[in-house]
Amino acid sequence: MGLAPVWRLRSGKQEPERARDDVAVMDWAQLKAKVAGCTDCKLRAGCGQTVFGVGDEKAQWMLVGEAPGSEEDRLGEPFVGQAGRLLDNMLAAISLERGRNVYIANVLKCRPPGNRNPEPDEVAKCAPHLLRQIALIQPKLIVAMGRFAAQTLLGTDATIASLRGKVHQFAGVPLIVTYHPAYLLRNLPDKAKAWADLLFAKKTISGS
Ligand code: URA
Repeated sequence: MGLAPVWRLRSGKQEPERARDDVAVMDWAQLKAKVAGCTDCKLRAGCGQTVFGVGDEKAQWMLVGEAPGSEEDRLGEPFVGQAGRLLDNMLAAISLERGRNVYIANVLKCRPPGNRNPEPDEVAKCAPHLLRQIALIQPKLIVAMGRFAAQTLLGTDATIASLRGKVHQFAGVPLIVTYHPAYLLRNLPDKAKAWADLLFAKKTISGS
């Protein structure tokens, strides 16, 4: 059964909804400043720095992951650790490169301690930043990498396996689901499926 997007599930609705409304009208400079100074959830106190996102702000491709890990926390850029190197290689295989017609962001902008899973209240507070990034970029395609990105954007608790291979929609933008690169590092046989997803994404974006 489908769920409402997680940022609508908060019991204390008023505060997240007010924050979302403010964020929803920000320009890039305001949004970057908001994230850089954000203390809306408990994560900021335990991370090194916020990790906003990287790439072409007019990109047709938008890739969405889960949350910064230790390397991302250290360098302030998404997907720069081992999983990021795999992601870069996968992008190169379809003639894409970070920063050129590609924007990369995470659901959470702060590293959860010990890389634990994001908690619902953290997603509720942080998701409006991602939504505003999507609205400002207006990508032609979103690729949700892994369970957290897919479930957050689609408001579902469905599995990656059941969501792959279809064109979903997020706010009018086509969205494709694939495995998270960190998962692929632990499950090498599924790389072939992720490759199929990227080819499917490429076909979708080129409209054929
Ligand atoms: N995993 C993610 O989901 N995002 C990153 O930026 C790094 C690892």
